[in-house]
Amino acid sequence: MIRVVFLGPPGAGKGTQAVRIAEKYNVPHISTGDILRAAVSEGTELGKLAKSYMDKGELVPDEVIIGIIKERLSQPDVKERGFILDGFPRTLPQAEALDELLSELNMPLDKVIYLNVDDEEIVKRLLSRGRADDTEDVIRKRLEVYRKQTAPLIDYYSEKCLLVEIYGVGDVEEITKKIEEALGLEG
Ligand code: ADP
Repeated sequence: MIRVVFLGPPGAGKGTQAVRIAEKYNVPHISTGDILRAAVSEGTELGKLAKSYMDKGELVPDEVIIGIIKERLSQPDVKERGFILDGFPRTLPQAEALDELLSELNMPLDKVIYLNVDDEEIVKRLLSRGRADDTEDVIRKRLEVYRKQTAPLIDYYSEKCLLVEIYGVGDVEEITKKIEEALGLEG
């Protein structure tokens, strides 16, 4: 059972590391970015709404994202195996809603893994990734949104003694090992 949040700037490698841990330990990987991109490509109402924000590098409204997460965290696989949250929470209201939901579900968080990467490296990585929302202007906007709205969660979780900071530059396998150590996994 693993119950963890991955926090960090865009391009920190949250998705890469989340997938590695999720596969190795058979834990549901819940990426709000992936969920939204799937909705966009299916052309659902949610997708249409989300696209208008994602294209600009802005956040999808809290109530929309919180609704998605509530539904997903209430599924039986999460109860049984836990979760790796990747890309959520991204704002203080999202973090507070998550606290409330997890306490209702009786599923306390083990840890928050904060993957820290230097700004220069982030821009380099995102520009080379080439996703639809990875143009230079949108990247700049996403970094600004991260600093303003998401970075305060570092203090929020640090005060709850849940935060573990891991430097996200270097060998992918080495970083996975550090995360495993932080989560008390055997590796
Ligand atoms: P990155 O890989 O750059 O961290 P994601 O794939 O997690 O980006 O998310 C891409 C976009 O989806 C964000 O820029 C945002 O518009 C939207 N999004 C994802 N998660 C959230 C969230 N928790 N709250 C609001 N918007 C979100």
